[in-house]
Amino acid sequence: MRNGLSKDLIARVLGGAPKYTLDELEAKFPPRNLGEGALVTRFAPSPTGYMHIGGLYGALIDCKLAQQSGGVFMLRIEDTDTKREVADAVKIIEESMNKFGLTYDNNTVYGPYYQSQRKDIYHSVVADLLASGRAYPCFLSADDMEKIRENQKSAGFATGIYGEFARDRDLTEGEIIAYLDKGLVPSIRLYSMGNPEQRIFCKDAVRGSIGFPENNEDIVLIKSNDGLPTYHFAHLCDDHFMRTTHVIRGEEWLPSLPLHAQLFRMMGWNAPLYIHTSTIDKIDEETGKQRKLSKRKDPEANVAFFIEAGWPVESVIEYLGNIAASGYEEAKMKGQVKSFWDYEMRPKKIPMSGALFDMKKLEWWAKEFIGSLPVPELVNRVVAWANEYGTDVNKMQVADVKYLTGVLGIERDNPKRVRKDFITWSQTLENVAFFWDELFVPNAEYEFNNDALSAFLETYNPADDKDTWWAKIVAVAESLGIKNGDVAMNLRVALSGRTNTPDLYSIMSVMGGERVINRIKGAIK
Ligand code: GLU
Repeated sequence: MRNGLSKDLIARVLGGAPKYTLDELEAKFPPRNLGEGALVTRFAPSPTGYMHIGGLYGALIDCKLAQQSGGVFMLRIEDTDTKREVADAVKIIEESMNKFGLTYDNNTVYGPYYQSQRKDIYHSVVADLLASGRAYPCFLSADDMEKIRENQKSAGFATGIYGEFARDRDLTEGEIIAYLDKGLVPSIRLYSMGNPEQRIFCKDAVRGSIGFPENNEDIVLIKSNDGLPTYHFAHLCDDHFMRTTHVIRGEEWLPSLPLHAQLFRMMGWNAPLYIHTSTIDKIDEETGKQRKLSKRKDPEANVAFFIEAGWPVESVIEYLGNIAASGYEEAKMKGQVKSFWDYEMRPKKIPMSGALFDMKKLEWWAKEFIGSLPVPELVNRVVAWANEYGTDVNKMQVADVKYLTGVLGIERDNPKRVRKDFITWSQTLENVAFFWDELFVPNAEYEFNNDALSAFLETYNPADDKDTWWAKIVAVAESLGIKNGDVAMNLRVALSGRTNTPDLYSIMSVMGGERVINRIKGAIK
């Protein structure tokens, strides 16, 4: 520690007197009144205009753990990088959260939830540190720091601002005033008391206790250019005063853990419990190696992809949920739970590394999910997707909702025998495209039995019930000396262009007499 600065000097250094004392902040953000075992979590994205699947994965875990414990899940916007455009980027995050059903509760008592609006809080905390000599104003310029770095490198020292290299850590008040008088604006740095020869033990809820060398870097707490905090300092203040109990964040933050533990200890605050999650990986098509999903190379790295391409958001959530809680799939298959939201996940079992996102596996979850939807709901979802993201063709397909309901309802009335051939909303429409004359592609390869088709046409009556209809097919087959199945196959291909379809009678009923007659006539020609 060094000598603390006087009140007046602190106000000058920070460009204004601090608004609160620490005691006032404690009172302003009281401990939350929640049941025992309730988790307070937050998703804390930096607004980049892009929501990565890894971010959604973390947010899901946050949301789930809070929800299942009767706790609180918050959304905090980490917008301390003022070079970035924020408004639209936040909208993208909020919309994604909404679409994927991750509901957050930003209670005003603990806000504001934009870090850029919490300057008063950060300055009040840092003022306390300046007053007690645990932080100091630093006037090093970018050039100064570059020179220090080069010297450190050539002399074989670790780079950074620490110990004897921290030029300004022991400036006198007079020296500080002299810099300020020159118009220089300092950053505020931690006066680190850490000694890398010693170890600090930090807890990660999944990895257990991890030993690290203590941090001796005088890291920046408040930046000189805009007076906003660094991530390290903002996270300290926010997670303390928002009363966060669990910080779930990417494993890239694991190396910062000793620093964060040091900061909490220095303040005398209880640190939250950390869970560092694995990156979301894929198997690279070219190299066959596992690697992180890349914003540049993989469209599925962006959560917007799933929405636009028509994946049911629930299936993405189910799949990510199963990555976070591998026991979920089994519980679901056994019918013990209906969705991930009913499954009690265990924080300790969140994978530490190697979480694989496999589109094939997602398909399975999507088929399961769509298979479980009642027809009216399926229709609603397809229509909503097509109208927002679909092509003109998709929009045409959903224009007549009654017809669409008939089409999508085929073989979907028996909950015991659920069909699982629909994967996405767009693939669903593609799968049933032959129902629309504009999209129907006649089968040019199939060798139709014209006699069978003509004979059927002669007796065809759209009003026939299924038994009568089948009796007619049998009669046609008998009269021509061919198999019943051959007659049915001729009709199937004539109507759909395909040799494989759901129930033929249902297809005819949905298509209606006129369309059926036209298609059969078309095939005969
Ligand atoms: N803004 C940080 C990030 O996006 C948040 C990390 C955290 O959750 O603490 O990585």
